[in-house]
Amino acid sequence: MAGKVTLVGAGPGDAGLLTRKGEKVLQTAEVVVYDRLVGRDILALIPKSAEKVDVGKQPQQHPVPQWRINELLLAYAKAGKDVVRLKGGDPFLFGRGGEELAGLAREGIPFEVVPGVTSALAAPAYGGIPVTHREFASSVHIITGHAKAGAPLNIEFHALVEAGGTCVFLMGVSALGEICRGLLEAGKPGTTPAALVERGTLPVQRKVVATLETLEQAAREQSIQSPAVIIVGEVAALAEEFDWFSKQPLFGERIVVTRPKNRAGRLSEQLRNLGGDVLEYPCIRTVPRERNEEITQALATLSQYEWCAFTSPAGVEAFFQMLWKSRMDSRAVSGLRFAAIGPATAKALEGWRIRADYVPEIYDTEHLALGLANLASGAVLLPRAAMGSPMLTEILTEKGIPFTDLPVYDTEYRCGETALLLDWLKAGKTLVTFTSSSTVRGFVRSLPQGIGLENVQGVSIGKQTAAECQKHGISTVIAQQATIDSLIQSVLEQKTN
Ligand code: SAH
Repeated sequence: MAGKVTLVGAGPGDAGLLTRKGEKVLQTAEVVVYDRLVGRDILALIPKSAEKVDVGKQPQQHPVPQWRINELLLAYAKAGKDVVRLKGGDPFLFGRGGEELAGLAREGIPFEVVPGVTSALAAPAYGGIPVTHREFASSVHIITGHAKAGAPLNIEFHALVEAGGTCVFLMGVSALGEICRGLLEAGKPGTTPAALVERGTLPVQRKVVATLETLEQAAREQSIQSPAVIIVGEVAALAEEFDWFSKQPLFGERIVVTRPKNRAGRLSEQLRNLGGDVLEYPCIRTVPRERNEEITQALATLSQYEWCAFTSPAGVEAFFQMLWKSRMDSRAVSGLRFAAIGPATAKALEGWRIRADYVPEIYDTEHLALGLANLASGAVLLPRAAMGSPMLTEILTEKGIPFTDLPVYDTEYRCGETALLLDWLKAGKTLVTFTSSSTVRGFVRSLPQGIGLENVQGVSIGKQTAAECQKHGISTVIAQQATIDSLIQSVLEQKTN
């Protein structure tokens, strides 16, 4: 049986503007055929299991021709695959969605369409321009500024000027001069407000506000590139007053999140909500250990311990999963007292319905160790990373507290794509958030030899992490408290523009 093809509008770039239906369809896709204008954060939502087919234009390369894309869609569908055809903005607005469906309809392949948020409306919105307004414009016209190779633009300038309202031109950057002249010659006053929004809705968005007469010059001065929308009409004058996007506190700031992928979500999301250009670059991965003799032994003798202390949420997860898989349950730990290094670890314990008996006032290894040394009269179990900090065990030894250091997970360093990070580091100051010493080590190891770290501005969650930065010559600040909220506060204080 043939698979289904779903034409999905990916929106203009901001992943938050992908529709809920679009996201849902994407999650179950077997093949995703996507264009150049689909944003990086949206591509990241494609499941690993799906085959990704890039038919967008690469620099110095030709795009896959339309007939070939149509053929591909047909071939995958006939092979029984569920295909998502992901297109920038809305698939039917200058997206050749109609041409792609024609082939499918002819062959009787089932298809659906999920509309998207078009850049024609979203880029102006993120530029502070309402395309209609009761006082200034009662219609909006969306026009392509693209002409067939060698041919002049085919735009009815007189009709547009006569109709009034707002004009939004897509694909118009290279014909900008011609568009402005066309409108002027058709009688549109040179003083008409006009604007350009480049890479709208993305953290790198730029905006030019001018008049019909000056827009081309202003765009040249800023070397505005495609993709951009051109907006001509009285509403463009509102762009400054209604600017909101570029006023976000972290707008334009490049920030790297080095946490493991499964823990990066909240930090990345909060930084993005503040306008930051966030690159998720997981530098470590935590891998729970298989059950081994050491673990079996510890689980069989839990009642001999007075305390069980955790130094990370990953430790909590690995330990309790192991307990559960060993056919034990919460009764096995009912006699223990629990310590957590900080609020995130305490929260992970709550996930297993256990309240931490002790969390140090300052969330680091040293204070956890000193606190335990004060409280414990019996043995302490330390289920943690195989390469956990020696400081914890050193202090306990010094204070004469018996303990078992139990490695329950391993930390693996990153390997993978570094191209975008290297571009950022070349371009200028880049904020890099570090939430543990191992993320610092993973970060440094991930870079090719000889890459300078002078453009890295580290933001460390605590003293130990900062010390690791210093070891590698990375300049860093330290969050007031070892929490994500405090880390974000430090990012806000460090911003470079
Ligand atoms: N179907 C798309 C438009 C495809 S045509 C949509 O509905 O948005 C490609 C043109 O769309 C570009 O030349 C540019 O004019 C515009 N465009 C796409 N993404 C954009 C963005 N993020 N910011 C500004 N313009 C964009």
